[in-house]
Amino acid sequence: MIIAIDVGGTKISAALIADDKILEQRKIASVIHSDLTNLSHYLIELCQDWIAQATLVAIACTGQVGDEYVNFLSAKQKLPLKDQLECAFKLPVTIINDAAAAAWAEYCAIKITAKHDTPTPSADSINLSDDTLVYITVSTGIGGGMIQNGQLVTCPDGFCAHLGHVSVQHNSQESITCHCGRVNCAEAIASGTAIAKQASLILNKKVSCKEVFEQYLAVAEIAQLIDDASSAVCDLIANIKAVTGTNIVVLGGSVGSVDIFHQQVIAKVANLPEIYQVRITPPKMGADADLMGAAFYANKK
Ligand SMILES: [Zn+2]
Repeated sequence: MIIAIDVGGTKISAALIADDKILEQRKIASVIHSDLTNLSHYLIELCQDWIAQATLVAIACTGQVGDEYVNFLSAKQKLPLKDQLECAFKLPVTIINDAAAAAWAEYCAIKITAKHDTPTPSADSINLSDDTLVYITVSTGIGGGMIQNGQLVTCPDGFCAHLGHVSVQHNSQESITCHCGRVNCAEAIASGTAIAKQASLILNKKVSCKEVFEQYLAVAEIAQLIDDASSAVCDLIANIKAVTGTNIVVLGGSVGSVDIFHQQVIAKVANLPEIYQVRITPPKMGADADLMGAAFYANKK
């Protein structure tokens, strides 16, 4: 059995998993912004009674997840989380970025579907013959994960496949500075945080990204803002296509999954020069993608 834990910015979920199925699941509010130093204590407390049955611990974690340290970017603090958890759980621990875990879950889901689709593939079945897939989540921020030739792309310091920090074209004359220090990162233009910030300026009152999509799409300047954001994501996808050669981009997240946004991106990618065109699909895995992806990845390792 595997203990899988998803360490996010707002919540921490844990699950006991056997044969690719969740047997039990628990959640607590995240401690990243309140008591990050003691994170490993909270995680072991959450899973204490599962430890005797488990053989592996699989972590999906927000931030820059390197071999030795996790750099919690929003809390501006680094932790040797893998070592801490190996000492605490006394079990082997694998740790990957949460968007990378979701990417791995999507890749495994497509592989499993393809296996069961033979000998007559259904009309919407996805051909993953080159074993390359890119997952983009447009949510509070923009994250992602890449699978190239059947391998999850990782690197020693964890700063890879952070797709939100790919610089893209922006329709406005003014460049937007990203919190990473560069200008016109996709995240600075098209993330939920960026959309809410720019919409609040247009409407002259504080609005959330959810409210923007639910209430203000009829305002011409807001419609243009969303159009610019979907153009930025289209440009991001073209850049990714040029780098990875992927034929599949899974586009999810609380913004990326909004129908109007998702359809705009699909239409714009279809208008790119032919060599940049890729198939855009919604995620197959639900809310437990990070947990399942981390568990699938630990199993493979
Ligand atoms: Zn950036």
